[in-house]
Amino acid sequence: MPQMFADIVLPVPLPKLFTYSVPEAFRSTLAKGQRVVVSFGKKKLMSGLVFGIHTQAPEAYETKPIQSVLDSQAVVTEEQLALWQWMADYYQCTIGEVYKAALPSGLKLESETRVFYNPDFEASLDLPERALALLDFLSHKKHTTIHQINEVTGLKNSYGLIKDLIELQALFVNEQLSAAFRPKTESVLSLHAEVRSEEALKTVFDQLARAPKQLQLLMTFLQQAGGVEKAVAGRLVGRTELLAAVEGAPNALNELVRKHYLTQEKREVSRLNLEDQVVIEKKSLSTEQATALQEVKNGFAEGKPVLLHGVTSSGKTELYIHLIEEVIQKGQQALYLLPEIALTTQITTRLKAHFGNDLGIYHSRFSDDERVEVWNNLLSQKSYKVILGVRSAVFLPFKHLKLIIVDEEHENSFKQYDPAPRYHARDVAMIMGKRYKAQVLLGTATPSLESYYNAKSNKFVLVQLATRFEGMQMPEIVVVNTREAQRRKMMQSHFTPQLVDYMTKALERKEQIILFQNRRGFAPYLECTACGWIPKCQHCDVSMTYHKHIHHLVCHYCGYSVPNYTTCQACESPAMQLKGFGTQKIEEDIQALFPGAGVARMDYDTTRSKKGYENIIGSFEQGKLDILVGTQMVTKGLDFDRVSLVGILNADSMLNNPDFRAFERSFQMMAQVSGRAGRKNRRGTVVLQTGDPEHPVIQFVRNNNFSGFYEQQIAEREQFKYPPFYRLIHLTIKHKNRPTVNQAANALAAHLRAVFGSRVLGPQEPPVSKIQDHHLQKIMLKLERTASPVKAKDLMQDCINRIIAHPPWRYVVVVADVDPL
Ligand code: ADP
Ligand code: ZN
Ligand code: ZN
Repeated sequence: MPQMFADIVLPVPLPKLFTYSVPEAFRSTLAKGQRVVVSFGKKKLMSGLVFGIHTQAPEAYETKPIQSVLDSQAVVTEEQLALWQWMADYYQCTIGEVYKAALPSGLKLESETRVFYNPDFEASLDLPERALALLDFLSHKKHTTIHQINEVTGLKNSYGLIKDLIELQALFVNEQLSAAFRPKTESVLSLHAEVRSEEALKTVFDQLARAPKQLQLLMTFLQQAGGVEKAVAGRLVGRTELLAAVEGAPNALNELVRKHYLTQEKREVSRLNLEDQVVIEKKSLSTEQATALQEVKNGFAEGKPVLLHGVTSSGKTELYIHLIEEVIQKGQQALYLLPEIALTTQITTRLKAHFGNDLGIYHSRFSDDERVEVWNNLLSQKSYKVILGVRSAVFLPFKHLKLIIVDEEHENSFKQYDPAPRYHARDVAMIMGKRYKAQVLLGTATPSLESYYNAKSNKFVLVQLATRFEGMQMPEIVVVNTREAQRRKMMQSHFTPQLVDYMTKALERKEQIILFQNRRGFAPYLECTACGWIPKCQHCDVSMTYHKHIHHLVCHYCGYSVPNYTTCQACESPAMQLKGFGTQKIEEDIQALFPGAGVARMDYDTTRSKKGYENIIGSFEQGKLDILVGTQMVTKGLDFDRVSLVGILNADSMLNNPDFRAFERSFQMMAQVSGRAGRKNRRGTVVLQTGDPEHPVIQFVRNNNFSGFYEQQIAEREQFKYPPFYRLIHLTIKHKNRPTVNQAANALAAHLRAVFGSRVLGPQEPPVSKIQDHHLQKIMLKLERTASPVKAKDLMQDCINRIIAHPPWRYVVVVADVDPL
């Protein structure tokens, strides 16, 4: 029999697959996409994925055997493997890094060091007390983890002690792999087979006459089972539920089980709450919507992706529901992608109402175990028909994917920054469309310039929905000059008299208000008024942000925090002053201006937990709050009935950002937040505060003129060689030492120039030049659209390898970001 080898993907950042030999026992069943355990490096065990099987022995090294195979069926499909390979090639990372990001950790076995007690060891009393305590503990245990040992010894780090004991041969260590995912089980009760008749039950009641607690428990059981008839038919009741209904009854329950009246068993239950199917009919479409739907389908028939440009509230979501339903009826699957922040309960509830338990949700706020369940569900026979998910849902194992919807396609959060793969889910969706032969629909009220350009140049089909459902009017946009108000000393904190006036009137009419404050540049920080000193992070080159509720300064890049300074660390003056205004400050100012109003703040701080987010939205929906103030989050896909006024506190901070996308983002943000005004009953108003009312972007927003905005921007992009005309690749060069990173970056740029010529820009020190103790340099490549990034990768990698091969630069790290945002 010929030898057999398997190429394995391992979760390591080395740019290759690893070849292992396949032992005889696994040969007939081993398949691509199964997980295996192999040893890696000196001793380490790792779980990896079979990527290919062949008979070609590697030339350079002796192969080690696969140790065990974990799955009888593939957990990753061939389509997924191909897609992951594409991602590694295009986004310039390793397949191992993609695998690491793609598979929920519950499906990756974790290697774990375990410590065992040597029973032959004779402890002598001259060992330290801690060591004796540990040995005593271990002698009663089969095995234990380092973590448990730390608890027993009371040491933060027991490694030193363990090392000593290993040397004495009192302990030995072993490495094992264990899975993080464990199915959830629940104890359930049913009537014992011997008493499953009404007569038998009567006898039981008689026998329990003098055991009132047991009798009460049995009665409750019958009730929870839905009556005697159902109980006799074997209906199950959860143990936890039953005991919750009768106080102090665990003993009584044990008695009932012991007497063979009830049977207790364990069964596997889902962590995903499956509600009863509440399926509502889809809405019938308006004429305009029906036309748009037909145009979308025509686009699909041409084999092209479709860009649905529909103003807010035009009914895009209704169209998605119609399309998904058709796909389901054909027994196929749909993927509905939303940016992280827009995945609120609002859309979940709306889709659940239509698709019931055919809908699966994949979200970063889900626990890892829940993700594993979704993954396994998709591999099973009765898999979900629709997945509503965030960007990482592109990694899921679809088997019949025929429709991909990317809602709010312009959103930045479809792009992953760190770690690799630095992918954009919208662009990955395009590739999935090709591989799965699935149709791709992008939807938004404010298309990205890239997508609109693709539509204009016939790569995509453009479908427009220009009016809101039932002819609701677009809001009136009032531009207010803050500079003038300042000159006349009329500003009250950050509010112009006009905005205060609109707010007063809206509150009088019992209407709701949303205030938007751009996050950027407005994080509150401390400054010494005597010498100008600003507290900076020790590890990063940024000022620290003041957090009121914990009274600490926090670095938003690395998380480092220090207690608030009351005196200046440079000149010892006590005159430290809070600068910048976060949403917190605005919330306080509003409370001072409108003492009677209910105000809530929605930003990173208040919405860190899923509950926090839902509570705020829930209270606002129910009208318990009058004013919602927030950052970017309030612009995203929320649909409130009673909001008549939207205030944009400061448009300039967005516009003045030194980034070629600043105008695009500003336009999107302002148009999106304006869309929250006046959704149902009356025309809304948007008050836009700016120091530069004549700014072209402000004018485009005011006139709701997307195409004018597009024409102007796209001309600039072409002139200055930016996307979509050129493809950008950012290289970040990192090292702990500033001179080293500068030298390495200069040398790298020179190598790159020899290959790519004037397409190489930099190196340049980025505005934040140090993060987590690493100094940074950036190099930018501008490649022609037609250039293959995969080919560029090889050329680029050559240059990088030459840098790293130079001994002083061995520990220089170079990170590539393809199509950065
Ligand atoms: P978009 O996704 O474009 O913002 P939605 O689909 O959320 O728009 O529609 C806005 C509102 O109008 C929703 O409350 C939706 O239920 C309602 N709506 C849209 N189209 C219809 C329709 N054809 N029949 C009934 N209600 C509709
Ligand atoms: Zn000072
Ligand atoms: Zn920091």
